Amino acid sequence: MNSKYKATDYPTCELCGYKHHSYNDGFDYLDCMLYYRTHLEPKEVKEARESQIEIWDAVKKVWVPKKDFYQS
Ligand SMILES: [Zn+2]
Repeated sequence: MNSKYKATDYPTCELCGYKHHSYNDGFDYLDCMLYYRTHLEPKEVKEARESQIEIWDAVKKVWVPKKDFYQS
């Protein structure tokens, strides 16, 4: 592992045009997706996606949306 490179030192991705880490293992689009979700995805989109994730509430014994789980 070479950790001397900072985020800004990554080569420009040929797929998405942004500079981000890539494993060059044939699954580069996953790195693009990860970069997009981390840096570019609108807050509303991210919240909408995460709001669909349900978490098992062991106390109440029900599935609750992730957003409600952390609010309560
Ligand atoms: Zn990319």
